[in-house]
Amino acid sequence: MPLTIPTQLLPTDGRFGSGPSKVRPGQVDHLVANAHVLGTSHRRPPVKDLVRRIREGVTELLGAPDGYEVALGNGGSTAFWDVATLCLVERKAQHAAFGEFGGKFATATSRAPFLEPSQVVSAEPGSVAYLEAAADVDTYATPHNETSTGAMAPVLRPAGADGAVVLTDATSGAGALPVDLAQTDAYYFAPQKAFAADGGLWLAVLSPAAVERAAQVEGSGRWVPEFLSLTTAIQNSRQDQTLNTPAVATLLLLADQVEWLIAQGGLEWSTKRCATSAEILYSWAASRDWAAPFVARPEERSTVVGTIDLAEEIDAGRVIEELSANGVQDVFAYRKLGRNQIRVGMFPSVDPDDVAALTACVDYVVEAV
Ligand SMILES: *Cc1c(COP(=O)(O)O)cnc(C)c1O
Repeated sequence: MPLTIPTQLLPTDGRFGSGPSKVRPGQVDHLVANAHVLGTSHRRPPVKDLVRRIREGVTELLGAPDGYEVALGNGGSTAFWDVATLCLVERKAQHAAFGEFGGKFATATSRAPFLEPSQVVSAEPGSVAYLEAAADVDTYATPHNETSTGAMAPVLRPAGADGAVVLTDATSGAGALPVDLAQTDAYYFAPQKAFAADGGLWLAVLSPAAVERAAQVEGSGRWVPEFLSLTTAIQNSRQDQTLNTPAVATLLLLADQVEWLIAQGGLEWSTKRCATSAEILYSWAASRDWAAPFVARPEERSTVVGTIDLAEEIDAGRVIEELSANGVQDVFAYRKLGRNQIRVGMFPSVDPDDVAALTACVDYVVEAV
C-alpha cells in the first residue's frame, strides 16, 4: 500500500525533473494560441519569425556581447558534441570531466581518429575539475552545470589560453546560472532544462572566434557530414532556419519561455529565483541528521540541480517511489551515479515554495517508512 501524503503538504506542481523538466502551463497556452503555426513550413515567415524571436531573445536574455550570434540545429546537446568534435577542435582538446556529461564529450573527442588524444582533467563526482591552460591545446571544454552530480562551475576562460576556443556545456545552466559570455566562445544548450520545452534541438551562442574556427577547420579538408557542419548550421541560423525540419511545437514552447524569463526580470531574476530554491533545499538537508548535500564545497553546489544524499538506513529508492505515487515526480539520482540520493531540478519554472513543499513531503515519507 503506497503512503498518502496529506494534501496540504504537497507542492502545487510536482514536477522536479532535472531534464526533461517542468513545462509551465503558460507555455502550453502559448502553444495552443499559436496552433495555426503547427504544420506549416519552416521555410516560411510564421516559423522563421519564431526562430528569429528565439535567436533575439536568447541574445538579450544571456547578454551576448556584440558580434556573438545564436546558431541552432536538430539533435540536442549530444549532437552538438559531435558538431564541436568535427568543426571546432583543430588538433587537441582539453576537457574538465566531473560527471557523466563532461565525460561523454571527452569520450567523443578522444575517439575522433583525426584528433590527438584529448587531455582530461577529472575530479570525483560531487566536486569540480577546473580547466588549466596547456601549450598544445586549442579547445577547452567544461560543463557549466554537471546535471548528473549537481556540481556547478563558473564560466571562465583559462588564463593563458590565448588563441584557443572555450566551449561551455550549458545544457542545464543556461537561463538559470549567471554568466559573462565574453568568457566563452560556444555556450551551448538544449531546450528541455531551464527553458522548459521539449528536447531535440541544440542552440549555441557563438563568439566570432568560434565562427572563424569552424570556417577554418571545415575549410581544411576534414570530412564533415552536412548534418554536423557548424558552418552550415550558422548559415541556416542567420536566415532564421534550421538545416532540416525542426519540431515547431518545441520552438513555440522555447520562445515563450525565453520571453517569459525576460519579462520576469531576465537572467538576474532567474538566477536569484533558483538560488532561493537551492538555499531552501540545502539548508533543509543540513538541518536533518539523515540528509546531507552531496557536493562538499558550498560554492560548487548547483543552484539548479540539487543532490541530497540520504543516510544508509533510509532507502532513497523507496522514498522516490512513495513521492512519485503522490505526484511528486522525478527526484531520482542520475542512474549511473548509483548513490542513495535524491536529485531535485530547481529550474526557473519551479516555484521556490514548491521546493519547500517537496522537503516537507520527504520529511513525511521518511518519518512514515
Ligand atoms: C541533459 C544534458 C545533456 C544532454 O542533452 P541532450 O539534449 O539530451 O543531448 C548534455 N549535457 C548536460 C550538462 C545536460 O544536462
